[in-house]
Amino acid sequence: MKTITKLTALREEMHQHNQSGCSIGFVPTMGYLHEGHLSLIKEARNNNEIVVMSIFVNPLQFGPNEDFNRYPRNIARDRKLAENADVDILFMPDADEMYKGILSVEMNVKERVNILCGKKREGHFDGVVTVLTKLFHLVQPRRAYFGLKDAQQIAIVEGLVEDYFFPVEIVRVPTVREEDGLARSSRNVYLSSEERNEAPAIYESLIEAKKKIESGEVSTSAIISGMKDFIHNETSGRVEYVEIYSFPELTPIHEWDGEIILAIAVQFQKARLIDNIIISLDKKENQHV
Ligand code: AMP
Repeated sequence: MKTITKLTALREEMHQHNQSGCSIGFVPTMGYLHEGHLSLIKEARNNNEIVVMSIFVNPLQFGPNEDFNRYPRNIARDRKLAENADVDILFMPDADEMYKGILSVEMNVKERVNILCGKKREGHFDGVVTVLTKLFHLVQPRRAYFGLKDAQQIAIVEGLVEDYFFPVEIVRVPTVREEDGLARSSRNVYLSSEERNEAPAIYESLIEAKKKIESGEVSTSAIISGMKDFIHNETSGRVEYVEIYSFPELTPIHEWDGEIILAIAVQFQKARLIDNIIISLDKKENQHV
């Protein structure tokens, strides 16, 4: 595995691979790797000749009161995990390398954004699409791999790629979970041991809601309040949102039909956890919400 920190070195390296016609699979991350990231790498490894992973805690996607400074980092461990997962190129730039000065053109996400995480995390997705635009231009991947755990991110990135004709295929990778159902996340280390015991309730609430929908419950407000009550009763966390939309359009649903996302965010003392499930439904008569 080659570790690269400079733009010029990455450009040279990628130029060679692109010249030789290799397929390049790209996995952008913020590091502190876990099984979720590793499943993205595995997918990329299975379907491309060259696998590039980036580790960059992107300052632009953190709000002033968010956890940029205390975001967990462990470069030595990440490098070992990436090497063992057979990554070919690990790109780890520092912030000055990625943002040389004030941006003269800024990116602003317009659709799929003022809901779910985008509602509270103002500017977050502007930061995400900005860094991904830079990374896509540098790496020029044929495919880029994203986890469905961050489903709003996937929906927005798919919009970016479609709007601006990026020649890259966005691959959606299913959420990897702990044995008790908790979605793997770098932020799980912020949970106290009591909170860690409670946190699987987040996924349980999604599964319960899915069962209700599949067995004919048609009221979105009943589903949402059921999930909120469950989290309230089973955890010390505070529900930030429970929302239901079509996926990946992220528009309100008027009937139970097609791909539907049920998404939740719960704030614990030091960790804000998100999770979701996507349900495929066939249109049924009288199933207006
Ligand atoms: P992050 O380092 O948190 O920015 O995540 C980098 C990539 O890994 C994103 O595409 C995430 O959606 C994905 N990811 C994070 N957690 C998981 C998980 N539990 N399962 C699958 N993918 C994940």
